[in-house]
Amino acid sequence: MTIELKTQTEREQRLEYPTPLALSLVVPVYNEAETVRIFVEQVERVFSDPKDVTVEYVFVNDGSTDGTLELLLLLQREMPRLKVIDLSRNFGKEAALSAGLSCATGQVVVPIDVDLQDPPEIILQMIDKWRDGYEVVLGRRSDRSSDSWAKRASANWFYRIHNRIADPAIPENVGDFRLMDRQVVDALNDLPESRRFMKGLFAWVGFRTTCIDYSRAERVAGTSKFNGWRLWNFALEGITSFSTDPLRIWTYIGITVSLVSFLFAATIVLKVLFTGIDVPGYASLMVTISFLGGLQLIGIGVLGEYLGRTYLESKRRPVYLVRRIYSQD
Ligand code: UDP
Ligand code: MG
Repeated sequence: MTIELKTQTEREQRLEYPTPLALSLVVPVYNEAETVRIFVEQVERVFSDPKDVTVEYVFVNDGSTDGTLELLLLLQREMPRLKVIDLSRNFGKEAALSAGLSCATGQVVVPIDVDLQDPPEIILQMIDKWRDGYEVVLGRRSDRSSDSWAKRASANWFYRIHNRIADPAIPENVGDFRLMDRQVVDALNDLPESRRFMKGLFAWVGFRTTCIDYSRAERVAGTSKFNGWRLWNFALEGITSFSTDPLRIWTYIGITVSLVSFLFAATIVLKVLFTGIDVPGYASLMVTISFLGGLQLIGIGVLGEYLGRTYLESKRRPVYLVRRIYSQD
């Protein structure tokens, strides 16, 4: 993952970027009235003493119904650097992130969760790495003990399966929390697809990348918006967006099953010829039929997953709809 660095001149170029450095935080929020203020206060604390960084907040209100928007607008009065993109309904975190990225203006952009599970202090280290010449600095969760056992185990399986069959591989234990150079954000904004699995797209665009380990904190308030079913669908989306192997494997399963049945047929014929006894076999017949029936249904199901996604993509609907952008500039 980590690529060894870069020429001296590149490092010098980075150091020469106009100071202060413009940092944009892209923060998707969905029913986060409890956490928004705590988040902003924490970020302000981190960037309080002069660090040659200006912070632009890009909050994306993803169809909240608990007064999050009103709270954000109140905060905006105190802090004109705060932008709010109000989506017309809940489009999901992936769409909200896309909306935020397209509005962020900073030289470096960091998508971050509002629940403080991604510690803002880490951004300072990320900026240092960026100044060293990296275009992407990933936040890697070295300690996920704040996540439940089931979540960690399923995440583990997901990365394993995904990276086995999909290309490019996505780095393990890396979420959306990362620092990206303007060039990377522009590349992401130019991607045309409307079904956006951000982790995959982040990996797809590439660029010079390094990691910073951090330990994932507990959610500061409120509850997680992702339940098991949502995560399962998210995993399916990830795999089907970046691999066609699940479609192609059926050819090989089909060939294997046909070969086995052909051999089976041949042994039956030979047996009848030599022993003259027909094979009694109601039970084995039923097992074979139901096994093959199940196999075919799975195959059709996989086809359906892809067909459904192709169908939705072919409608060319926008990724999200904006009701209004609240910005002081
Ligand atoms: N979020 C969102 N839209 C959604 C679900 C979540 O914008 O439909 C935001 C949420 O407000 C938070 C971030 O995505 O800022 C991460 O969500 P959460 O903490 O619930 O996920 P977890 O950390 O449990 O994976
Ligand atoms: Mg969270």
